[in-house]
Amino acid sequence: MATDEHVKVAIIGSGPAGYTAAVYAARAALSPVMIRGLQPGGQLTITTDVENWPGETSIMGPDLMMKMEEQCRHLGTDIRDDMVTEVDLSRRPFTLKLESGGRVVADSVIIATGAQARWLGIEGETKFRGFGVSACATCDGFFYRGKTVAVVGGGNTAVEEAMFLTNFAEKVYLIHRRDELRADATNQARLFANKKVEPVWNSTVADVIGDEDPLSVTGVRLTGTDGAPDRELAVSGLFIAIGHDPATHLFKGQLDMDEDGYIRTAPDSTATSVAGVFAAGDVKDHLYRQAVTAAGMGCMAALEAERLLGAEETAEPESLAAE
Ligand SMILES: Cc1cc2nc3c(=O)[nH]c(=O)nc-3n(C[C@H](O)[C@H](O)[C@H](O)COP(=O)(O)OP(=O)(O)OC[C@H]3O[C@@H](n4cnc5c(N)ncnc54)[C@H](O)[C@@H]3O)c2cc1C
Repeated sequence: MATDEHVKVAIIGSGPAGYTAAVYAARAALSPVMIRGLQPGGQLTITTDVENWPGETSIMGPDLMMKMEEQCRHLGTDIRDDMVTEVDLSRRPFTLKLESGGRVVADSVIIATGAQARWLGIEGETKFRGFGVSACATCDGFFYRGKTVAVVGGGNTAVEEAMFLTNFAEKVYLIHRRDELRADATNQARLFANKKVEPVWNSTVADVIGDEDPLSVTGVRLTGTDGAPDRELAVSGLFIAIGHDPATHLFKGQLDMDEDGYIRTAPDSTATSVAGVFAAGDVKDHLYRQAVTAAGMGCMAALEAERLLGAEETAEPESLAAE
C-alpha cells in the first residue's frame, strides 16, 4: 500500500456493520477502503446456524459473511487484509496507521470494530461453541425449545438472558459464583418469580460435557466456590453471560465513551464526539448486539458520512468566495 493514501471513507472492521457501511458508501460513489482486521467477517464467523437474518431461513454464520464480502467487492469496495494499530482523530483528514506499515488518510472514518463476548476460558467451552455453548440467548435461545439450559453470570445481562430463555426452555439454571446476584432489584424480582428458573449459587463451571457425534452438550461440571464437592448438572445448552468487551482501545482519549468503553454517539445517529467519525454496530451498542442492528447502523453511518462530505463539497466554493 502507498503511504499516506488519501481516501474519502475508511471503514474499520468487516462485521455486518462494516460490510453494510461499505455497500452504502460504495453505491454513493465514495470508493470506500475497508481495513478488515484479525477477524474477517466478524463475530458471525464463529457461529453455526443463523436464523434471524432477514431473507435467509437458515444460513451458517461464515456463509452469510462471505456473501456480504462478495457483495462489497462486487460494488467496488477496496478490502484490505490489515489491522489498524493507531489512529489520529485530532484533525481532519484523519490518519490511520496500519500493521503492514502503511497509513491511510481519510476525510471520514466509520468505526465498526465490534465487541467480543467474554468467555470462561475452559477447554470444553471452545470445543462446543456453536454446538451447545453460546454467548447470545437472543441468537440461539430458539434452538432450545423444551430443553434444560444453564446461564453463567450474576449481572443484569445474565438475568435478562435467563428470562429470555424461559420463553423456550423448560428449565433454566442460573449459575453464579456468589450467593447473591449483582443484577438490579427489579430484574432479580422478575427472575425469582419465574418458576422455570433455578439459581445455582456458589458455583463455577469447571468443564462442559458432551457427545462427539453429533457434537452436542449434555451437561456441565460444577465446582463449588464454598468448598462443596464437584457435581454434574445435565443441560443441553450453556449460555455464557459474563459481559462483552467493545474493541475501542484504539480510540481511548480521542472519542467520548461510556463507563464500559462503548463509543457514545448522538441520539438517532452514528455521529461520535468528533465530526467526520462515525461508529456503528456492537462497538456502540450494548443493548441489541445483533447482526441486523449492526447492519442498520452501518447503513446509517455511510449515509451520514455521505451527507457530511456532500455538504462540505457544496459549501467549499462559498467559503472560498467569502475569503
Ligand atoms: C457465537 C455468536 C453467535 C451469534 N449469533 C447471532 C445470530 O444468530 N444472529 C444475530 O443477529 N447476531 C448473532 N450474534 C451477534 C452478532 O455476531 C453481532 O451482533 C455482530 O457481528 C456485530 O457486528 P459488528 O459489525 O458490529 O462487529 P463484529 O462482527 O464484532 O466485527 C468486528 C470487526 O472489526 C474488526 N476489527 C476489530 N479491531 C480492528 C482493528 N484494530 N483494525 C481493523 N479491524 C478491526 C474485526 O476483525 C471484525 O471484522 C452472535 C455473536 C456470537 C459471538
